[in-house]
Amino acid sequence: MSRRTDVDESDVRVRPGRGTRPRSKRRPQHADATEAMVTVVDRGRWRCALGGDPGRPVTAMRARELGRTPIVVGDRVGLVGDLSGAPDTLARIVRVADRSTSLLRTVDDTDATERLVVANAEQLVVVTAVADPEPRTGFVDRCLVAAYAGGLAPVLCLTKTDLADPEPFAAHYRDLDIPVLRTRRDQAPDELAGLLAGRVSALVGHSGVGKSTLVNALLPDAEQRTGTVSGVGKGRHTTVAAVALPLDGPDSGWVIDTPGVRSFGLAHVSPDDVIDAFDDLAEASKDCPRGCGHLGPPADPECALDALVAAGELRPRRLEALRRVLVALR
Ligand code: ZN
Repeated sequence: MSRRTDVDESDVRVRPGRGTRPRSKRRPQHADATEAMVTVVDRGRWRCALGGDPGRPVTAMRARELGRTPIVVGDRVGLVGDLSGAPDTLARIVRVADRSTSLLRTVDDTDATERLVVANAEQLVVVTAVADPEPRTGFVDRCLVAAYAGGLAPVLCLTKTDLADPEPFAAHYRDLDIPVLRTRRDQAPDELAGLLAGRVSALVGHSGVGKSTLVNALLPDAEQRTGTVSGVGKGRHTTVAAVALPLDGPDSGWVIDTPGVRSFGLAHVSPDDVIDAFDDLAEASKDCPRGCGHLGPPADPECALDALVAAGELRPRRLEALRRVLVALR
């Protein structure tokens, strides 16, 4: 690659009226950068939707000045350079906007390195089957913790409800006030479609739970519209962590599928990160002793959330449901 592509007109600029010192090349302002949303990341290449329009895909590299700044699916970036999107052209990402939410995971619960999976998703849809395979609260609990800690609103989507009664599993989460949707194999997921419309939503779920079936039902030709995933990077047959797929119509939202995410290590999350997601509990938890895990007796005998229940300000079942989720952090 020629070094010329690393310099453009915005790199050197004279500030009008305030002295004549040209701006240093080291502090490019890129005022003319074009906004875009990252839709796929694969081996050092970022597929972006120019102006958030899925019909204007551009492939980009990360500008040198950004160093190793993580840039993930859902990130809002500023692009300069060749924005034509023509084959074999590369734009440059020169800026990453502050994130409204961050879905993070670690490889396991002892891993010190947190990895950003998805940025700026408003909701995390946890997809799990009520049968074939049997549902597990452990996986769902971990997803909920990651959602609460990252600022995403969790949604539980129970699939294959024509095979088994979803209510026993749904009951685990009822008191957390999470939307719980039910889908059947013989019906279109209309309720889910309604919840996704106009929003950016990440979908997580183990293989076999019917997540791919849902994605295909929601977005019959999404892959053609975004360009095939395997064509973005330098190699074929790569597994990407996440891919953003556009819902139909202008401003109708994005579904971010996460085929590369099979577990949520939570080494980066503290119990307080979860409690802080609940407006009615965050304030009360300030009375907890330092390092409180909020699990109640015997592990946390002085947890202030128990006092909240005793005062009649918190439903016991709500606290129990929350504590079942917090156990995932132990
Ligand atoms: Zn506590």
